[in-house]
Amino acid sequence: MKVYFVGAGPGDPELITVKGRRLLEEAGVIIYAGSLVNPEILKYAPPGAKLYNSASLTLEEVLAIMQEAVARGEKVVRLHTGDPSLYGAIQEQMDALERLGIPYEIVPGVSSFAAAAATVRREFTLPGISQTLILTRRAGRTPVPEGESLPDLSRHRASLCLFLSSQDLAAATAELARGYGENTPAAIVYKASWPEEKVIHGTLGDIAARSREAGIDRTALLLVGDFLAGSYQRSCLYDPAFSHGYREAKASHG
Ligand code: SAH
Repeated sequence: MKVYFVGAGPGDPELITVKGRRLLEEAGVIIYAGSLVNPEILKYAPPGAKLYNSASLTLEEVLAIMQEAVARGEKVVRLHTGDPSLYGAIQEQMDALERLGIPYEIVPGVSSFAAAAATVRREFTLPGISQTLILTRRAGRTPVPEGESLPDLSRHRASLCLFLSSQDLAAATAELARGYGENTPAAIVYKASWPEEKVIHGTLGDIAARSREAGIDRTALLLVGDFLAGSYQRSCLYDPAFSHGYREAKASHG
């Protein structure tokens, strides 16, 4: 038997993968990150499954639950919000399972940054605007390495998505404004894909105050960049004058 790290998606229970849902349906033990995973997703669990909310557990306790379940021959699903590869603290779990000789597998999920783009109906990578997306957070209890501070990153003026920082939004937007400028479009997406989802639009200069007025203090992402508004070049991919492996350019008639 194995431990499966499964991306639960951003909230909407239909935004889990087909494979993730199947594994939940077959699980004997499910350990879920209770602060962020939508409990609605647990409806896919079979009636006898044992459920543990990891919010109140230490790494050692999580590992002990996994080890005992695998020894009993049960399938374990470790449910992480969004995609497990981002701010999921899964590396330390995988390395410990490796040491214990317990097999594991990772099933990716729809990250909240993708859900937020869907909510605001914008594309992060617009030709002539930005071809880069920066996923980052501000230093808090977890330090951020040198060279990755918000003023450093803001110099690229790339599309940017800030995780986990809604309490420090005023400081974060002030730091970002150093490179982007105060007038750069910004949006806060609260609980993307949940029924209570909210979006606030503004600029780096005013988004922190707008978000405070709306009472948003957690489970939100800050999106920053000119991709949120304005003009861009159309893509070469669907341009009639441009050939690629799957399509010949159409000759212009003139
Ligand atoms: N692995 C997750 C991120 C975990 S860190 C993922 O791929 O999305 C938790 C942070 O993600 C939250 O503080 C918040 O900034 C963001 N987040 C998670 N779900 C969200 C959602 N539905 N809407 C907006 N932000 C979300």
